[in-house]
Amino acid sequence: MIEFKNVSKVYPGNQVAAKNINLKFNDGEFICFIGSSGSGKTTCMRMINRMNEITTGEILIDGVNIQDMDPVDLRRQVGYVIQQIGLLPHMTVYENIVLVPKLLKWDEDKLRPIAENLIKKVDLPVSYLDKYPSELSGGQQQRIGVIRALAADQDIILMDEPFGALDPITRDALQKLVKRLQREMGKTIVFVSHDMDEALNLADRIVIMGKGKVVQFDTPENILKNPANEYVEGLLGEDKLNEAKASYETVDKIMLKNPVSMTSDRSTYDALAMMRKKRVDTIFVVDKEGHLLGKVGMFDFQQYGRQIKSLEEVYDDVYAIRKDTIIRNAISDIYNADIKNLPVVDDEHRLIGLVTRAAVVDTIYMNLWGDDEEEEEEEVFEEDNLAELIQEASRDASEDDESGDVSD
Ligand code: ADP
Ligand code: MG
Repeated sequence: MIEFKNVSKVYPGNQVAAKNINLKFNDGEFICFIGSSGSGKTTCMRMINRMNEITTGEILIDGVNIQDMDPVDLRRQVGYVIQQIGLLPHMTVYENIVLVPKLLKWDEDKLRPIAENLIKKVDLPVSYLDKYPSELSGGQQQRIGVIRALAADQDIILMDEPFGALDPITRDALQKLVKRLQREMGKTIVFVSHDMDEALNLADRIVIMGKGKVVQFDTPENILKNPANEYVEGLLGEDKLNEAKASYETVDKIMLKNPVSMTSDRSTYDALAMMRKKRVDTIFVVDKEGHLLGKVGMFDFQQYGRQIKSLEEVYDDVYAIRKDTIIRNAISDIYNADIKNLPVVDDEHRLIGLVTRAAVVDTIYMNLWGDDEEEEEEEVFEEDNLAELIQEASRDASEDDESGDVSD
């Protein structure tokens, strides 16, 4: 664990770069410092391994004040990634990878297995260890740069805008790689970025710096949901804020509860009667414990004529989503697969709800244009609104034998 306790940094000339910083990072966390230029990100990060000395306050690593640690021990525990992660051209790939372990005076015979193990993690052949960087493609060189950062097996790795100068595609690939390796190897990474998208993609928690102070320290999700002030909103941008509303809500917020269902031991006759009564064209088939098995549709019954079948024999498979699916993913399912309704199941695959296309459309409109476009919504999607039909039917459960105009 890394702990900042009332940490301040004043550069010569009374330049206050960090004011009274209090933070705690857990082991294995990916932390991003973000903020405008000059807000103190780099200063805060570099104080962790004493590249910048603290003016007042203290930083503890696993409860030990870094001032009291032997600098060599500190470097063994905290790695620092050289800017732009470039490789040294006159050294082989192998020599590049083991650069820091060598500086830390590791046993020579340990180094080869470490390098081999690491190069496999980024899907490059072991034979590449003996090549020179110029014999590798740009992307391959960058992957080597990333594993070099991990070679000395430090628990904590500091990275200061390592991907700042890269094109978006390379950058995206390297972000994914760093994130994957960080998880696999259980590293704590403290990463400085000026790019909010990068921070949101990578970080478990983000420290938002402004004028040398911590403005907000929270998960990407919470920052998007509740930005601390206008400065944070500005860093996020309007698009992100709107998008966030749709992207973090889960389908259980918009689903209808208790969709029309029947156990599989019932018959097509019972199902048809239920469809008429509830004015729906589809019924979900469940077992006795409520686990979703499939669905039956009114028009599928025509093929059996007057024959009565058990639902067990006739139900079709149905695609279902879990209740913690975020609405945005349900939206793409509904539109990509052109489905009207998606059953929602719990962790045990029990049927608990139904997301209708209409409900999803409501959500999209709400997030794009706020509350004031209701009329248009209803006009456009009236026909599709099975949800409405179901609700209507449960309010008025009286027998009605004309239901043929409800179609799927
Ligand atoms: P960031 O990484 O967020 O851009 P820095 O931590 O590099 O910000 O800098 C924070 C503030 O401290 C800035 O105002 C910067 O000018 C100042 N500063 C940084 N390094 C030095 C230094 N070596 N001497 C004097 N002032 C510095
Ligand atoms: Mg900086």
